[in-house]
Amino acid sequence: MNLKERMAIPRQNPVELPVEERITNFKEVIKGYDADMANTEANRCLQCKKPTCRKGCPLNNNIPEFIRLLREGDIESAYWTIRETSSLPAVCSRVCPQEFQCEGHCIRAKKGEAVAIGMLERYIVDWMVENNKNLMTPCALPINKRVAIVGAGPAGMTVAYYLAHEGVSCTIFDNLPVPGGMLSVGIPPYRLPRAITDAEFDALRACGVKIKNNVTIGKDKTLNQLKEEGFDAVFLGVGAHCSRRLNIPGEDMDGVIHGVDYLRRVNLGERLELGDRVVVVGGGNVAIDVARTALRIGSRDVFILYRRTKAEMPASKTEIHHLEEEGVKIEFLAAPVAIHGKEGRLDRIECIRMKLGEPDASGRRRPIPISGSNFMIEADAIIPAISQMVDDTAAKGLNVKRTRWGTFETDPDTLQTSIPWIFAGGDDVLGPQTVAKASYQGKIAARSIMRFLKDNQVNET
Ligand SMILES: Cc1cc2nc3c(=O)[nH]c(=O)nc-3n(C[C@H](O)[C@H](O)[C@H](O)COP(=O)(O)OP(=O)(O)OC[C@H]3O[C@@H](n4cnc5c(N)ncnc54)[C@H](O)[C@@H]3O)c2cc1C
Repeated sequence: MNLKERMAIPRQNPVELPVEERITNFKEVIKGYDADMANTEANRCLQCKKPTCRKGCPLNNNIPEFIRLLREGDIESAYWTIRETSSLPAVCSRVCPQEFQCEGHCIRAKKGEAVAIGMLERYIVDWMVENNKNLMTPCALPINKRVAIVGAGPAGMTVAYYLAHEGVSCTIFDNLPVPGGMLSVGIPPYRLPRAITDAEFDALRACGVKIKNNVTIGKDKTLNQLKEEGFDAVFLGVGAHCSRRLNIPGEDMDGVIHGVDYLRRVNLGERLELGDRVVVVGGGNVAIDVARTALRIGSRDVFILYRRTKAEMPASKTEIHHLEEEGVKIEFLAAPVAIHGKEGRLDRIECIRMKLGEPDASGRRRPIPISGSNFMIEADAIIPAISQMVDDTAAKGLNVKRTRWGTFETDPDTLQTSIPWIFAGGDDVLGPQTVAKASYQGKIAARSIMRFLKDNQVNET
């Protein structure tokens, strides 16, 4: 196929569940490619000599190579090419914000539509699962070293994955009843079916990784106790699970529930009905997940309040498109200033209109309240979803240095904290970020932990 022919192939749009069907359940919305679609899409790749897509991938996946192998029909080798750099390909292919990462850097995006890299990766991984192929290489023989990992999210999972492949005995402790961190209690199943995360954990367990749920480090057990029990090093991958508050009057009323708390409860099986009229505050993926979840649980009138305009929304375009398709309205340039109600239960939200000023530190135009523009919205519930902070329970009693944002301070190259045997990475170091970035930090930390374990050995002999 020549260049002109490749350029003429349109991007293959995946099949999606019809809107009327999807808003009644949590089934996966986007269907995977079939073999024809995958081959057609793979043929759109130009196999650039200097592939910019790789630079956009936090894991530096060898994208052109796995697409080339897919094109040649060697799907297993395509999979192992992805596995060289990625510990969570089934997850990343589904939830990575590709438009800001690999696809955002694809040369074809400059004059049209990027190659659907995420969908191709997903096709390859799903093919491996459907064909009962091994998803992981065998682990190394034990080297008589033990590492405790606090947090079973993408960062902790990745540390365990790489260390297990070096023969290190890994135990992951997590305070929730299910492993996965935000993959299980944040991202809703209609974007990431739980079977996908379960398969990753099955593969980790098959490598000998032990996973202990319902253990809160810092409460049920301290880091020092872990050390006394014989763990040679600890990795903190506790994420950012504390919702940031709006800090407005009325925020403690009934009917106010913060974004990640709401998602955690729903994802753990609670059918949390909030009434018909639900207001979600925020413009990121979390706000969108909250709104679409509330809709699926049965609230009829869900809308989002966002203080900037659509152009500044940090959420991905696909998410915004799905949100609007499902009937969630967005009230732009508006923010809540007070929550009102009777007998401790909210019934109205006082808002103010905003206008945009000069760009702020994030590069987005700063929202400025328009004085005297206050207005009321009737509501049964409000769900602020404006960001998350790190809960430092795990490090209680130890002087692990923190930054002024409350994240753990680490050496940027090694991810070692101020206490040499404690490493940290993922959202608890970066602040709320993405799966691939958390996973990349897990990979860096695993490398440093290996060096630390070997140095100790050298010192001991
Ligand atoms: C609603 C939502 C949607 C998202 N959507 C996307 C998306 O589409 N794409 C994307 O790339 N990223 C998305 N993210 C972000 C992504 O999920 C996170 O960046 C990623 O999960 C961070 O990984 P982590 O391992 O650092 O932490 P987490 O995944 O948060 O895992 C940390 C784990 O540590 C546990 N823990 C905390 N304290 C303790 C303690 N003291 N003892 C024991 N265990 C503890 C937590 O309960 C949790 O299980 C989303 C996040 C949310 C909240």
